[in-house]
Amino acid sequence: MTVSITGATGFIGRRLVQRLHADNHSVHVLTRSKSKAELIFPVKEFPGIVIAEEPEWKDSIRGSNGVVNLAGVPISTRWSPEIKKEIKDSRIRVTSKVIDLINDLPDSVRPTVLVSATAVGYYGTSETQVFDEQSPSGNDYLAEVCREWEATALKVNKDVRLALIRIGVVLGKDGGALAKMIPLFMVFAGGPLGSGKQWFSWIHLDDIVNLIYEALSNPSYKGVINGTAPNPVRFAEMCEHLGNVLGRPSWLPVPDFALKVVLGEGASVVLDGQRVLPVKAKELGFTFKYSSDRGIGGVWDDGWGGR
Ligand code: NDP
Repeated sequence: MTVSITGATGFIGRRLVQRLHADNHSVHVLTRSKSKAELIFPVKEFPGIVIAEEPEWKDSIRGSNGVVNLAGVPISTRWSPEIKKEIKDSRIRVTSKVIDLINDLPDSVRPTVLVSATAVGYYGTSETQVFDEQSPSGNDYLAEVCREWEATALKVNKDVRLALIRIGVVLGKDGGALAKMIPLFMVFAGGPLGSGKQWFSWIHLDDIVNLIYEALSNPSYKGVINGTAPNPVRFAEMCEHLGNVLGRPSWLPVPDFALKVVLGEGASVVLDGQRVLPVKAKELGFTFKYSSDRGIGGVWDDGWGGR
């Protein structure tokens, strides 16, 4: 198949492109910066890959069977009023653009599937509730962002199969939330961030990529699908495992203030959490590579370590 991907140069996108390319699918990288994307996907390593800047997105989408929409300014950063606005606007802007391009195409050349990212922030935060795809949305800022992001994607032509993946915190060795947390974790001797009681709905990078891949090719994947591992953990447990991997003890809590200095309001992404279960993915028979009685421990099996 031929797949166009926004946000392909990001943490999840890069791994998705590698997977699709390795399986001989054609990939169109829809980016704001061709020169950046060409460095990430050198033609020697990725022969045949198409890198498109606007206004070439239109032709790329026209020639695709599927579209994956991952673009958005990073969330785990210090939230100034301007960044907060951009967190929402960047997602709505790119999603609207993609939807307009898809909807404007004649039926005969329209992609048949759109897989669009959203986040578990949709549900708001809670230390006690358990959320699945049927749960209502929360009432904080991130919930509002996710609602509007999803509502924009839902405007896609009704003949296009839409899978909205509510992604949890993605764990992988080359970036994402962990890359931000680890330096703090090391400074503060590896204790939990905040109270440690907050829920942490994680998913391994390989699993979120597999889920998106499956959603592209399997017609049963439609509507909202939580992209989280089946065993969310309390944050203290996550830190204990990370402490073991990093060779740091995990008993001294990282104070909230330290995290807020680094991340500002964005600290809420790790200081407040939600327990989200992937009910739909399990119903669909999706097999998680990283999910077991060992809790989050199996995540580190792919050789990620930092020792
Ligand atoms: P990244 O931050 O790594 O990459 C996102 C991509 O979005 C970038 O490579 C960039 O592509 C594009 N982008 C960045 N800023 C802007 C902007 N201002 N306007 C338009 N496009 C922009 O994201 P991830 O790979 O980590 O995540 C992919 C999606 O999944 C994101 O939307 C994210 O919110 C969501 N998600 C991720 C989670 C995680 O733990 N990683 C958790 C929950 C949701 P380019 O420069 O090529 O245009």
